[in-house]
Amino acid sequence: MPDVQKKVEEIYQQVVRRNPGELEFHQAVKEVIDTLGPVLKKYPHYAEHKVIERICEPERQIIFRVPWQDDSGEVQINRGFRVQFNSVLGPYKGGLRFHPSVLLGTIKFLGFEQVFKNALTGMPIGGGKGGSDFDPKGRTDAEVMRFCQSFMTELHRHLGEHTDVPAGDIGVGAREIGYLFGQYKRMTNRYESGVLTGKSPHWGGALVRREATGYGAVYFAEEMLKTKGDSLAGKVCVVSGAGNVAIYAIEKIQQLGGTVVACSDSGGVIYHERGIELDTLKQIKEVERKRISVYADIHHDAKFIPSGSIWDIPCQVAMPSATQNELDGTAAKKLVSNGCIAVSEGANMPTTPEGVRVFQESGVLYAPGKAANAGGVATSALEMQQNATRDAWSFEHTERRLHEIMIEIHRACYETSAEFGATGNYVLGANIVGFKRVAEAMVAFGLI
Ligand code: NDP
Repeated sequence: MPDVQKKVEEIYQQVVRRNPGELEFHQAVKEVIDTLGPVLKKYPHYAEHKVIERICEPERQIIFRVPWQDDSGEVQINRGFRVQFNSVLGPYKGGLRFHPSVLLGTIKFLGFEQVFKNALTGMPIGGGKGGSDFDPKGRTDAEVMRFCQSFMTELHRHLGEHTDVPAGDIGVGAREIGYLFGQYKRMTNRYESGVLTGKSPHWGGALVRREATGYGAVYFAEEMLKTKGDSLAGKVCVVSGAGNVAIYAIEKIQQLGGTVVACSDSGGVIYHERGIELDTLKQIKEVERKRISVYADIHHDAKFIPSGSIWDIPCQVAMPSATQNELDGTAAKKLVSNGCIAVSEGANMPTTPEGVRVFQESGVLYAPGKAANAGGVATSALEMQQNATRDAWSFEHTERRLHEIMIEIHRACYETSAEFGATGNYVLGANIVGFKRVAEAMVAFGLI
């Protein structure tokens, strides 16, 4: 094994030893550092400064108790997390996830990814992530409010527009951000708009933030297809999930002339051959907060497939937009054999390492989440800009900025993949671009 490769493997083994049982974090670290060998060879000072070792260790990890009372008066205890991973490029920035599966390792994997993603956007934001094992599903608004108030009562002391700026993620949308912001304002006696993003445009939120992650991932897919002289127009697409990212990915695909024939939630898959009716989907998911199976009760030509795999449905473009490791090697093989030519990840790390290998070996255009879904956090940075200047941009202007940012992220990843002799390998391109930007700042700041 060449020396740099050996060094990288040693660093990975050390991460595994020091973070036992955190499998998703190990996976995220491995995926990045496996592509960094050529960078260390070209820029040996990164190794001298132990940049990789330092990047793998969060600057700060906060774990706290979140007690609250449900509607029946029973006391509930959840656990809250905020992992402030890296702040050399700006304040920690990254969403909050409320889902029963959340463990420290989940937040660490997401925070680690966020560092590189945020660097890729070219905006002045560091990386962090947070959340709780609280499950908002089936809870009343009053219960969600009490939980959010308790969560923020502890977290507020670690936040600030120049320190750490959370946003939404799975289980955290405009409703939760509203309750969190209200409690932050109350605890600090400050109307500090820039402390949270994903706010409602009625009180300091940016237009397009809600749409940004899904739209951005579709723009990235369009850019990848362009490198082959192709486009989304006329393509059959499948988008997993039915949450914030999935809904707006579907919307943008439809605007660009593609047809989305399937989407899903954790209860099953909706297959609608003539194309998903977006108004129905939004009504079910955004307004009524119901299960996706209801869609087939409304559209009788659609089929609900309980516990089916969405990746069995033939498509040319796939956009995993639900959760991590939702697309494994078997699913990837199925997609390839059904004629899939492009995969753009709306979710974070939705494809397993085996799945990624299948796509890359089959010549499928494959965009990892840290590049493809960076439009969400980039638009959060645009929200921070608007808050800092007490301004509010139009939808058209903000969407144009998002589009430009996604084109630029694609260009940087593509050109870097070519520079390192792996043209079209967006995993390598994204990791190297993000890493170099963070590494340069870490070296410049001295040993911190
Ligand atoms: P939402 O909570 O709005 O939606 C999540 C969707 O995925 C729901 O349809 C949910 O179904 C489904 N889902 C979640 N967990 C599972 C699971 N374990 N198994 C099957 N289905 C599941 O979240 P978002 O749309 O905001 O986030 C989706 C992904 O995109 C996540 O990976 C997130 O980290 C990533 N992301 C989000 C950004 C954003 O701006 N929101 C930015 C960048 C990345 P159900 O309701 O049944 O649980």
